[in-house]
Amino acid sequence: MADYSVKNLASLLTKEIESFSSFHEESSVGTVISVGDGIARVYGLKQAMLGELLLFPNGATGMALNLDQDDIGVVLLENGDAIKEGDEVKATGRVVEVPVGDALLGRVVNALGKPIDGLGEIKSEKRRPIERVAPGVMKRESVNRPLFTGLKAIDSMIPIGRGQRELIIGDRQTGKTAIAIDAILSQKKSGVKCVYVAIGQKDSSVASLVHKLKEADSFSYVTVVNAGASEASPELYVAPFAGMAIAEEWMEKGEDVLIIFDDLSKHAVAYRALSLLLRRSPGREAYPGDIFYLHSRLLERACKLSKEYGGGSITALPIVETQAGDISSYIPTNIISITDGQIFLVTDYFNEGQRPAIDSGLSVSRVGSAAQTPAMKKVSASLKISLANYRENLSFAQFGSDLDKDTKRILTRGARAMEVLKQTNFQPYKESQEVVELLLLQEGKLDNLKVESLHEILSSFFAFLLDQHHQIIEHLEQEHTLPSEISEEITNSFDDFLARSEYA
Ligand code: ATP
Ligand code: MG
Repeated sequence: MADYSVKNLASLLTKEIESFSSFHEESSVGTVISVGDGIARVYGLKQAMLGELLLFPNGATGMALNLDQDDIGVVLLENGDAIKEGDEVKATGRVVEVPVGDALLGRVVNALGKPIDGLGEIKSEKRRPIERVAPGVMKRESVNRPLFTGLKAIDSMIPIGRGQRELIIGDRQTGKTAIAIDAILSQKKSGVKCVYVAIGQKDSSVASLVHKLKEADSFSYVTVVNAGASEASPELYVAPFAGMAIAEEWMEKGEDVLIIFDDLSKHAVAYRALSLLLRRSPGREAYPGDIFYLHSRLLERACKLSKEYGGGSITALPIVETQAGDISSYIPTNIISITDGQIFLVTDYFNEGQRPAIDSGLSVSRVGSAAQTPAMKKVSASLKISLANYRENLSFAQFGSDLDKDTKRILTRGARAMEVLKQTNFQPYKESQEVVELLLLQEGKLDNLKVESLHEILSSFFAFLLDQHHQIIEHLEQEHTLPSEISEEITNSFDDFLARSEYA
């Protein structure tokens, strides 16, 4: 029997390590034993790492994904069609990488960071591996600055902080992408760079999104990573990791980044397809057992770095599509548990015209309120509760005049709150405008006005403030506070404004 005493163990280990490194050199070339469906099995690359870039003949590339005992499963990334059995495969010792840096701003790239916008080569000197271990807790600090979305319902009730991960979840066609676009548009002057990762979407939808951003003069701070519906599963699988690597470069330079994954349900489906082709055993809903690990590994990389590490941040807004509002199926529950909260969108609201169709009862932001500005905090404190009361009492509304005073007050206020929170897409608000409207709502200044005319009144009042009381707006935009003199000035101006208008 071998002698496993401590003394002997050390020399045994040293021997093992020596043979390990010499083995590596020998095994950096392997052979394709089978290929098909975007997957190759390769024999002889025993030392390949998970995610390692592998080179095939004729410029084809692949990524090692399944590390089995005798052979490895490789997903083919570029020019995979020409690969055949018996081809030589070279290990590179490097994980798959993408170009990063400011050269990517205003560009549309594929999952490997190659330009697909016809604007020529991307002049970037630096590349980063698409997989990386997330910063540890010691490098992080808690979320302490808001990421303003320009949407009243979100900034007031489900505030997002820089470095937070907030899920946008809802059925198809409920305005999920619209929220993400508004959040991007709102970063125009904030200095926050944005990465939009489109996974499995129609190229035409992505093109129209890019067009919208360009139209709003908001594309110069955005990178779009597009792995379209026509791409094979490997591209879809890689895309969010590539986007995250691009975002990380800026975060490490001390900058703030917003990244959107639209959407991770399609990402999960792509990964499931790959895993089945790699003959991994399927688990719940046929997803591979490590799908939770996959998404947590991705989203964990979004964080707020502490000052010693530059203070940069990545705010992640993953999107998940549900079927018939079911948030308890596998992928939604996984991602809900990985993120710091969710914005839940409801088809019924959407169809009733209550857009953005946010269910304020099921939506939550677990860390963002710490990052809300003092002004926003002041005007939104009671909003969520007043909406909850409203929904609870809504069934009594049909009794009309027989209602007691309290119920009537709840219904009046609630109906106005719902109306104020409606917002057309592609028209994000400035913080000052959100604060003014929410203040008037909170102070009961809207209770006696007709619900149908609220939008018109509020927008003309804001124009009036801009014109006549510009210093108020400036204060709100620069100081982000709402001292009582200013809130009184706003409510008094509103009374003046109403008295002089035909709305009163
Ligand atoms: P999909 O599931 O197809 O990805 P989605 O949930 O991302 O859909 P969007 O594409 O954002 O939904 O929106 C669906 C449609 O509703 C679009 O035509 C969009 O312009 C419109 N829409 C979204 N939000 C609003 C809004 N706040 N006001 C008016 N229209 C809106
Ligand atoms: Mg969408």
